[in-house]
Amino acid sequence: MEIKTQILPPDQRRSLPSDKALGFGKIFTDHMLVMPYDAKQGWHEPEVRPYGPFSLDPAAMVLHYGQAIFEGLKAYRGQDDGIYLFRPLANLERMNRSATRMCMPTLPVETVFAGLKALLQIDADWVPPADNGASLYVRPTMVATEAGLGVRPAMEYLFFIILSPVGAYYPEGFNPVKIYVTDKYVRAVPGGVGEAKTAGNYAASIMAAVEAQQEGFTQVLWLDAKERRLVEEVGTMNIFFVFKDRIVTPPLSGTILPGITRDSVLRLLADWNLPVEERSITIDEVFAANERGELREVFGTGTAAVISPVGSLHYKGRDCLINRGKIGELALRLFNELTAIQYGRQADPHGWVVRL
Ligand SMILES: *Cc1c(COP(=O)(O)O)cnc(C)c1O
Repeated sequence: MEIKTQILPPDQRRSLPSDKALGFGKIFTDHMLVMPYDAKQGWHEPEVRPYGPFSLDPAAMVLHYGQAIFEGLKAYRGQDDGIYLFRPLANLERMNRSATRMCMPTLPVETVFAGLKALLQIDADWVPPADNGASLYVRPTMVATEAGLGVRPAMEYLFFIILSPVGAYYPEGFNPVKIYVTDKYVRAVPGGVGEAKTAGNYAASIMAAVEAQQEGFTQVLWLDAKERRLVEEVGTMNIFFVFKDRIVTPPLSGTILPGITRDSVLRLLADWNLPVEERSITIDEVFAANERGELREVFGTGTAAVISPVGSLHYKGRDCLINRGKIGELALRLFNELTAIQYGRQADPHGWVVRL
């Protein structure tokens, strides 16, 4: 499919704000990629065009029944001034798995990738400079646009990609997060949609996050829905526990999001010959190991932060302080390795980065 382009004249283009103004997901670039779908034509007319609002029927099915999926990846400015993407096809393939679970049409990956590259070339000046940890966040999204109130898969959809320059996640150095382990709410149930990156999972998580923030915690750690003992994941991150003699992360059992950062961390740990286990782990095991002095580090993994050290866990009124609230050695090593690969500063033996 040919990608049409409709580009703003130079005098209507805006420029990248200063680093300090960036934050996360507040500012968007000049253009977006848009591609509609209907049952007759399938996906058609992919187009890069000026960023701006859509017109949507009030009966659009996404507004009522929530057929909505998204992805999140980043484009980095390398020291050679090139633009690098980290495992972009893994994101598009995961989006197609989310689409299948939500009875939405799968995307033509090659066309979407070509469209993403065209969009990034046009808005290339929005990829922040290499030296400060900033990047350009890429948000592919798909929603059901058909008007109608019958509950069934829609026959019309819109796919789009928007871009947002984001600041360094740790502008003042690592800040380990305080996490609230909830046994009051659950995120996903077996047989549900926990492994799909679908909007409803986030809507369902907000109340627990708000309550945790009111108590002074940054994020929520979810437990399994059945017994509320097994650790699942954190907000928008997968989780790893570093014990004295092994590293453990919960398995992809269908209720957690299969993170691309999680997968990359598992491969690096294997490269480094560190003993790692993907297995179920209870919150009691974590607290007991900490009491015995055998819990070295806990960290989250996800595109936004890459590696997010956990300083403490709060569960049933008890606090578990990890590594004296400081970032651990392994978390730091992983962060440095992954970001060096992402910014094209280091050899990429797994073929993870794509240079535009
Ligand atoms: C996106 C996401 C992650 C992390 O996935 P990455 O591919 O590593 O960014 C983890 N958990 C949830 C719930 C997510 O939405």
